[in-house]
Amino acid sequence: MPIYSHSQLSTYEECPLRYKLRYWDRIKRDVEGVEGFLGTRVHETLKKCYDDMRLTRVNSLSDLLAYYNKIWQENWHDSIVIMKKDLTQEHYRTLGDRLITTYYERYSPFDSDITMGTEMGLNFALDDENKYRMTGYIDRLSRDKSGVYGIHDYKTSAYLPSQEQVDNDRQLGLYQIGIKKKWPDIKDVRLIWHYLAFDRELASYRTPETISSLVQDIRDLIDEIEAATDFPPRESSLCDWCEYPDLCPLRKHFFKVEALPVNEYLDEPGVVLVNKYVALRNEETRVQDEIDRVREAIIEYARREEVELIKGSDYKARVASGDRLKFPGKNDPERQELDQVIKDAGKWEETSQLDTTVLTHVVEGCLWTKDLIDRVMKYGRVEETATIYISKLKDEAE
Ligand code: SF4
Repeated sequence: MPIYSHSQLSTYEECPLRYKLRYWDRIKRDVEGVEGFLGTRVHETLKKCYDDMRLTRVNSLSDLLAYYNKIWQENWHDSIVIMKKDLTQEHYRTLGDRLITTYYERYSPFDSDITMGTEMGLNFALDDENKYRMTGYIDRLSRDKSGVYGIHDYKTSAYLPSQEQVDNDRQLGLYQIGIKKKWPDIKDVRLIWHYLAFDRELASYRTPETISSLVQDIRDLIDEIEAATDFPPRESSLCDWCEYPDLCPLRKHFFKVEALPVNEYLDEPGVVLVNKYVALRNEETRVQDEIDRVREAIIEYARREEVELIKGSDYKARVASGDRLKFPGKNDPERQELDQVIKDAGKWEETSQLDTTVLTHVVEGCLWTKDLIDRVMKYGRVEETATIYISKLKDEAE
């Protein structure tokens, strides 16, 4: 039976293809984002702070910063990616210094509770049959003087979530389930997030009802993952940190051509085709605008000169004018009334016809009974289609 972690589930939700490459195909990549590297070093430093405390050693801030800088140097490697081009390794290292200092100044001398464990591993099942197995690591587990357990999570990101978001956070709710399985006598649990960049502590409590609904949601998600046969790529801002751009249909070409020198880039067949297509589309729009303007001018000319046929060099144009009967369109408020008049008169069948676009939506969304959809599908066929969507690269990045 596979064992799932919160980050595994999140990867699936964020991008099924990335999930498949990472957890099913187990394709290893040694690229690492600088943000992740920074987070790991800060976590290691705070772990040392509390581990040493348990052995009666209280580190000074300079001890911890010296440790942080040492492990930063020891672990830095060439595959660490800095996406923000105007920032350097030194900016991030300094940021880590600041985050640790902020935390230290807020919580020193670290004696408001007892540390029960740091980087505490959890392995547990969500059900009695051991079908839904979970794993995870608690940054720090504490117990305060009134016996309340604290599940702590250090956050080094530059994003501060709302209270509602932390109240719905899956990861620490999951860890609450894990520690209660490990020690069933634990009663009160407080979930605590330390947003170091903001010097903010956010906390949340979970009721038995929210825990059961969390368990159900996770079980549903695991069922969905295990039944999945299709793992489509899902583009998002996280793609910039994805380790598989060379295997992803949405990023593969970018990855390939961005590595080329400018002259080779402009000759690359895909780049040539897109550039040509966009140029022709722009030309098409310009020509269509011009056709519309000339058409208007011809009609105006015919009206003014009171002629129906206009002679050109090789062609002639006939301008046929007259009155055309029009009824309210689909979105016109009067349309419903008109439909009703026809229905009431028993003439609907004569004037209406099947809307196959709506029918496709109904079938794809399984909005009718299976039996009816099966009967309808005897007449449906799946055809391969391809649509080209053009958008500006700047928009793509946003
Ligand atoms: S680049 Fe984006 S869409 Fe492609 S696999 Fe990675 S996360 Fe998914």
